[in-house]
Amino acid sequence: MTGRRTVIPPGSTIGILGGGQLGKMTAMAAARLGYHTVVWAPPGDIPAMEVATYRIANAYEDLTALEEFARTADVCTTEFENVPVKTLAALELLERRVRPSSTILDVAQRRSEEKRFADRLGVNPVTWAYISGLDTLLSPVAYKDLLPGILKTDRLGYDGKGQYDIETYDQLLSALKKENAPCVLEKRMSLDYECSILVARNAAGHVSVSDVVKNEHRNGILWKTNWSPGLIPRDMFTRAEKVAVEIAVRLDLVGILAIEFFVSGGRLYLNEMAPRPHNSFHGSIEAAHCSQFEQHVRAICNLPLGEVRFHTPFIMENLLRGEGDEWLRHLDDPSTRVHNYGKQPVVGKVRKMGHVTRLSFR
Ligand code: ADP
Ligand code: MG
Repeated sequence: MTGRRTVIPPGSTIGILGGGQLGKMTAMAAARLGYHTVVWAPPGDIPAMEVATYRIANAYEDLTALEEFARTADVCTTEFENVPVKTLAALELLERRVRPSSTILDVAQRRSEEKRFADRLGVNPVTWAYISGLDTLLSPVAYKDLLPGILKTDRLGYDGKGQYDIETYDQLLSALKKENAPCVLEKRMSLDYECSILVARNAAGHVSVSDVVKNEHRNGILWKTNWSPGLIPRDMFTRAEKVAVEIAVRLDLVGILAIEFFVSGGRLYLNEMAPRPHNSFHGSIEAAHCSQFEQHVRAICNLPLGEVRFHTPFIMENLLRGEGDEWLRHLDDPSTRVHNYGKQPVVGKVRKMGHVTRLSFR
């Protein structure tokens, strides 16, 4: 394997583990810069396969798929943080460039590890406790400062899945019994607002930080993101920026990483981080000098980084059902860009089917 300073030139193939919309939009940005892509994901409803140069529809544990992916990809990345760490570690053993590394994925896959990491950095996580299972549950008094709280599975949670509102110790008992897996219990915060930042670092060690966007969730799932100049107070922005740079350097990040924050009582708390493109930065496709997807490609290929800074205020809204023609009505609005991920709708199921970005031209 060549050194960290080597530029991976256009014409090379970017290997993407994961087949969702984040992979699709990354592959589209890669194609625009002259790269090929190989997408490896289990068979199913996989938007990224539609736009990839090469496709491997097989389980992440499949050895033949691993060999083929390793042979085809000049650099490997993920669009989904729950890809097995073992698969990434195997690619690293095969001397493939895995960006971000398996070590970073390992931290980001476990809420408890993320919070410990934040603690070590001196960045406040919310007040929390690790509960490995029913057998290690302490007496009620140990959790009284955490209630009302939210119980979250330590691993594999996303879009509010694997989360339980907990008011009483009895509810904690029954949620743990149902989940039967390690969890974290977090105090439910009263939020001034939620926001996020995106940091990029390339293999040469150059770092670039985005603007901070404001996020609104409904039932634990991102509903809207917006940005306009001065939306986030200067001091909050500066603090988020400092945390982002510190995290990127400490983790020896190569790639991009999004950090979700809570702001409560005027203080910034780290909620979680994701070493991949993030839903809250989809507006960067139209409203920023460099989109998060292009930044991802630039970072992992060791190109000069762009600026995920916004030139136009925007509101990004997720399309969460996709039943009927929800997305079609947005086509009538000339200030709105419509993204349809091409997923099959499932009646009654809330799922990210697409998004719209409304630009506010001045
Ligand atoms: P996911 O991995 O599903 O995104 P999060 O931990 O980010 O899980 O939770 C989803 C959303 O639920 C948050 O963005 C926030 O709106 C709400 N939430 C989660 N934890 C807390 C908390 N401790 N206090 C208040 N709101 C919370
Ligand atoms: Mg979240």
